[in-house]
Amino acid sequence: MQVVGHMINGSQFQGQGDRTQDVFNPATGAVTKQVALASKNTVEEAIAAAQAAFPAWRNTPPMKRARVMFRFKQLLEENAEQICRLITDEHGKVLDDAMGELTRGIEVVEYACGGPELLKGEHTKNVGPAIDSWSEFQALGVVAGITPFNFPAMVPMWMFPMALICGNTFILKPSERDPSAPMLVAELLKQAGLPDGVFNVVNGDKEAVDTILEDERVQAVSFVGSTPIAEYIYSQGTANGKRVQALGGAKNHAIVMPDADIDNAVNALMGAAYGSCGERCMAISVVVCVGDKTADELVAKLKPQVASLKIGNGTDTSNEMGPLITKMSQERIQGLITQGVEQGAELVVDGRGIVVDGHENGYFIGGTLFDRVTQEMTVYQEEIFGPVLCVVRAESMQQAMQLIDDHEFGNGTCLFTRDGEAARYFADNIKVGMVGINVPLPVPVAYHSFGGWKRSLFGDLSAHGPDSIRFYTRRKTITQRWPSSGVREGSQFSFPS
Ligand code: NAD
Repeated sequence: MQVVGHMINGSQFQGQGDRTQDVFNPATGAVTKQVALASKNTVEEAIAAAQAAFPAWRNTPPMKRARVMFRFKQLLEENAEQICRLITDEHGKVLDDAMGELTRGIEVVEYACGGPELLKGEHTKNVGPAIDSWSEFQALGVVAGITPFNFPAMVPMWMFPMALICGNTFILKPSERDPSAPMLVAELLKQAGLPDGVFNVVNGDKEAVDTILEDERVQAVSFVGSTPIAEYIYSQGTANGKRVQALGGAKNHAIVMPDADIDNAVNALMGAAYGSCGERCMAISVVVCVGDKTADELVAKLKPQVASLKIGNGTDTSNEMGPLITKMSQERIQGLITQGVEQGAELVVDGRGIVVDGHENGYFIGGTLFDRVTQEMTVYQEEIFGPVLCVVRAESMQQAMQLIDDHEFGNGTCLFTRDGEAARYFADNIKVGMVGINVPLPVPVAYHSFGGWKRSLFGDLSAHGPDSIRFYTRRKTITQRWPSSGVREGSQFSFPS
């Protein structure tokens, strides 16, 4: 059986004595490949390769680095179908959705192509007599990215194109659940002309992650995944002197106001709650309706659409929703739905126990809709990460906003309304990092930065956009004097002014 190994110093190999783990096709439940789990030694080898490649890459002119990115973008487009097929086979999402993910990743590569402009520093002539001063952005060295299963192509591309254009060398530790797409992307980066060792991939689990966190040659770590692990990465990484950005979980609420266009809101919520089987950190999983009349109308219109979602293998382009990532995830979510019923939520559409013809062992779950969910219920508090939408009823917009502000997560949110004043107030005051007004998934484009608030982001800087240049560089400010020849100054003991 094929083993997905690592890419170190430009070569793919399996790692001597590394443990392995099964890779599944979640639509069939079949084991399709194995993935190598890097030992400490393997990760150290990758770090050594990245360290050795750093001096030359750091000194490569930004324009030459950008040319690699231009070629890489072209190769990604030429190989898009193959990448998406790998994503669907191992993640389960429908092919269109995989293409959407890849497109968003390519947009970051396009942003990185503008690196020479983004890396221009600041210069002031004559800060003093014959003294000039400038600030420049210097690469950090070896940096690492640790990524989740739900966007195996896009989330790594939130990180490495920006890190590389800044002159760093990179170690990617993708999710061990869907490792094939990141490996193909790594191969394309090599074909684009990236020197060996500049970008390395180590597949693995906690052992690989802990090695990255402990090795003093690694200067910075970008992480995207669940909140408990994000918190762990942030505390361990910073304790070891590294710069860390760790993006965590979410529980994104939408508010539907009584004046909203309900049909538009229903269409938007269907995609935002059930797209990718709800396995998106920006998925809407709670909708707070202001007023019972709004809730009654919304639930009545959502119900038939949720019940008739087309579910099946993501490779069949007529399907709207594929399977969940693992059997464990399927069982966990079915358990949460049962708990929701026991705790008193009204189950309007029940997705438990569905079977897809010809895919009896796939990890499917149907679209699920709860009404009359309240704050103390587990389905409200926890990130479900599945196709489950909870309707909460509120009496006012203030009460709805308070719910959002009180929740531990603050990744994304959306307000459906026709009232500009309400929209402006909401956008200004809500304690969430990414806000939509009649836009259900307000995922920032590549040239803005992506990041939540509260326990959805540990660290000060978000992913891609301008924050990424700050994250992947150190500012240095140089002050320089070239006095005219023969001019000598006496010693000065006061502070220079
Ligand atoms: P996860 O936290 O289980 O795994 C993420 C990464 O951490 C993987 O590479 C994994 O190998 C590694 N890891 C897992 N357990 C570890 C441990 N004990 N020690 C060290 N490393 C460990 O997350 P996941 O299930 O792959 O992804 C889903 C989660 O990611 C959801 O919570 C989702 O909200 C979140 N997510 C957040 C964003 C965001 O931008 N905020 C984006 C995508 C996904």
